[in-house]
Formats: sequence, structure tokens, C-alpha cells
Amino acid sequence: MKPRVRFAPSPTGPLHIGGVRTALYNYLFCKKFGGTMILRIEDTDRTRFVPGAEEYIIEAFQWLGIKFDEGVHIGGPFGPYKQSERKSMYKAYADQLIENGWAYYAFDTPEELDARRKEAEAAKKNFQYDLHTRGTLCNSLTLSAEEVKGRLDSGVPYVVRFKFPADTEIVVEDLIRGIVKINSNTLDDKVLYKSDGMPTYHLANIVDDHTMEITHVIRGEEWLPSAPLHVMLYKAFGWEAPQFAHLPLLLKPDGNGKLSKRDGDRLGFPVFPLQWTDPKSGEVSSGYRENGYVPEAVINMLALLGWNPGTEQEIMSMDELIQLFSLEKISKSGAKFDPEKAKWFNHHYVQQIPVNQLVAEFQKVLEGKGIKADDSKVTRVVELIKERIYFTRELWDQSHYFFEAPENYDEQAVKKRWKPGTGAHLTKIAEIIGSVVPFDKQTAHDKVMDYIQQNELNMGQIMNSFRISLVGAAKGPDLFEIVDILGPQEVINRMQKAIEVIRI
Ligand code: GLU
Repeated sequence: MKPRVRFAPSPTGPLHIGGVRTALYNYLFCKKFGGTMILRIEDTDRTRFVPGAEEYIIEAFQWLGIKFDEGVHIGGPFGPYKQSERKSMYKAYADQLIENGWAYYAFDTPEELDARRKEAEAAKKNFQYDLHTRGTLCNSLTLSAEEVKGRLDSGVPYVVRFKFPADTEIVVEDLIRGIVKINSNTLDDKVLYKSDGMPTYHLANIVDDHTMEITHVIRGEEWLPSAPLHVMLYKAFGWEAPQFAHLPLLLKPDGNGKLSKRDGDRLGFPVFPLQWTDPKSGEVSSGYRENGYVPEAVINMLALLGWNPGTEQEIMSMDELIQLFSLEKISKSGAKFDPEKAKWFNHHYVQQIPVNQLVAEFQKVLEGKGIKADDSKVTRVVELIKERIYFTRELWDQSHYFFEAPENYDEQAVKKRWKPGTGAHLTKIAEIIGSVVPFDKQTAHDKVMDYIQQNELNMGQIMNSFRISLVGAAKGPDLFEIVDILGPQEVINRMQKAIEVIRI
């Protein structure tokens, strides 16, 4: 049987990268077995609905290359794929549970429940609506049938609660954690349905997973505490439960706690795939896309946060990940997020971008600065400095001196390298460069080397001073490559200027 899996976010804000990883693992698993991937929007909690969140989620997956086969944005045979649009179907399921004795109506007002909570607190206890307390509360188990009918007819608000059976060992079989057993006496009678006509997450989730024929529920570990209720709901409906796999948490870089939405901008790295502007506060949270990450790097990095192929291999394309992925190799313990590793992956994938694409992107930057340069020159520059960049936006920082002469010279570098007499030697070297006609990089190099050796000069000191005169600092790739790209006349001009400005 081919798997049918779903990613089921609630549109309560931008999608956290932990959520992206959950979607990715669902995708890798189902594609490996030629299965179907579904995007379902779980928007039953209207109080937490955030406008734009659903569109954000769809755009993020488009950018990342995670493709759905059915879903809210593309439809499919099991639609609609948004719970608010499925609203009318849930009541019958809640009614069915009540009829079969698996659920009951509860009429307690928020004030009454609050009073019970306070009472329990005063006695240093926890209040829970459960097997121990339900008999003392206002519900269809304690009221007479007439009273219940009267209340329902009069339209007072109610909820439907699940009725956990007493003394039952609930067994959750998890593909990652193994067998988890829970005693039903400890669990609270969760609300399944509300009289406003909306199911809660628990009921809608189970009804949808069943009616959409989901075979595997792969989701974050934060849902593990809900799994016993879900297992019991399947039992109560007489349905076969899907297989569960609860994924380990993504942890902060220091391993201290869950990576939260706030951590990213606090610690200086994005925790969202795309930039997000909060529609209420206007607060902007940074995104991987806007920070210059390529989607392949984000995918590769996330895949390895909680899973590995069992070898040392780290660089994997989406196709390779699909081939190598297995739920068995997912670790049980949380995975520490490593921002440096994210950059490392990006560096790798930026190197794979075709040079002509980098050139086109960089030409736009240059144009924006009013700089006109031939594609042939920009291509040579990009080829030369590309391995130094982690993000394409660093092209300018790593190569600006090819397009503008230095205005000033790094003081530390000058202090270290430029000595009395350096100017005179550089004047000579400028003459040597000018004497190579037609200009040829290798000949110029050999002649400059001869000059340094014959005069028994300090190689590091002279070459670095030469570099400072061209670049403005003691940085950059091979010096004679720079000389070649700038051309002899520009080199001589820059040397003369530096000699004039740096008078020692
Ligand atoms: N709507 C839930 C969420 O926001 C889905 C949990 C699940 O996959 O069951 O994560």
C-alpha cells in the first residue's frame, strides 16, 4: 500500500522551520514509496487565525520545492482541505460518539470551571476534567435525560467531551519511540466539539485523517501527549488508526530547550523560511530566502537535523534524500540547530550556481551602484572570488576593488607592511609592470619576482604593500590575477596613488 501522508499546519502565523522539517520528513517518506502528500489547513481555532499565514505556508513550500499532490491550494479527491470548509461534517461524528457512550455533553460555564480550578489550587492539587471529577460536574452523565434535553433545546452553550474509560492501558505504537503506554485514569476528558459548531483540533484531526485515508501521521513530538486520545478516538469510532511517528524537537544552538519563534532574530539567524511581517504589530521576522539562502541548502540542512543516512555523507539533493530517507534512522533525542552549519550548506550550494547566473545577479548590483562592467570582466571576477562567498550578496564585499579604486588604505595592514623605502620599490615595480608590452601576467610576475630577489627584499612585505595599493587592504585572491583583471594601466595608477597617499 502506498503511503498517504499529510502536513496539517494551523494558520496561526509564519511556519517555523521545525514545521518545515516535519513537512520535509513527510515528503521524503512518502515520495520514497511513491505515495501521496497532502496539505491540510487546520483552522478550527478561529481565535488564533492570522490573515496571510496560509498564503505564507504555500509560498514557503513552493520556494523550498516541497510539492503536494493534494491540498488546500490544488484541490484533490478528498477535499475540501481546509477544516473550516468541512465544518458541517464533524457534528455527526460527535453525535456518534455520544450515542455510543464515548463522549458526553458538558454544560459547565467557564466561571464554574475556574472556581473548581481555584478550589483545587487552594488544596495544592491540579484540577482536571476527568474520570475522578466528571461525576461532580454539570454534564450529561450527572444530569437527567430531560435536563440535558432542556438545556440543548434552550440553546445554552455546551461542549462535547471525550469519556476516557477507567483503568485502561492505552498503547501508542510509535515508529520512532516504540511502544508508549499510558493509564487512562490519568487523562483528561478533552473537548471534542463546541456548540458554536466547531470541532476542536482533536476531533477534526482524527475525522480528517480517517476520511482522507491517511496511513502515516508524522508530526512533532509536542503532539505525543495527544496521541493516547487519538488512539482511543480511532477505537471509539471503530476505525483502524494510522501509524504514528513523533519527530524529535529542534533545540536551541546551545541545546537548552526548544528552538522558539523568538530565538532567530535574538540569536541572529532566521527561524522562518520566508520573511514575515506580523499583520497586527508590523514586526518583521527574517526569513531564509531574504537572507540569501538557496532552498537546496535549507532542505539539506533541515533533513540532517534529527536524521542521518547512517554514513558520513552530508551533501544530498532532494532526490538523494528521498532515496536514502527512512523513519528508522530518525533519532529519538532533540537536534541542536547549528547556524554555522546552515551557512556551510549554503556555501556549498552557492558554489553550484552557474557562473552566468551569478554574473547576471551581480550585474544588477553593479548597475545599482552606477558601475558599468563587461560581462567578460564580471565573469572573471566571479570565477576568481566565488569560493569565498557564503551568500550571493557577498559578491560585492569580496570584489568591490575590481570596480572602484581604493579611497583609503587599511591602517593596520599599512602599519605592518609599509616601511620606509617601500614606496620607492613600488615605483620600480610599477615601471616593470608598464614595461611588459604586450602585457602578460606570467612575464610580469616573473620580472617582479626577479626584482625582489635581486634586491634581497622581504617578499611578504613588498607583495603585501603592492596588494594594499591595489585592494586597499591585505586581502583578496592571487595578486597577479588581480593585476591581470585590472590591467597594467589601472594597476600603475593605483600604485602611484598609494605611494603618494601613504608617505612613510
Ligand atoms: N494542526 C496541528 C499543528 O498545527 C497538526 C498536528 C498534527 O499533525 O496532528 O501542528
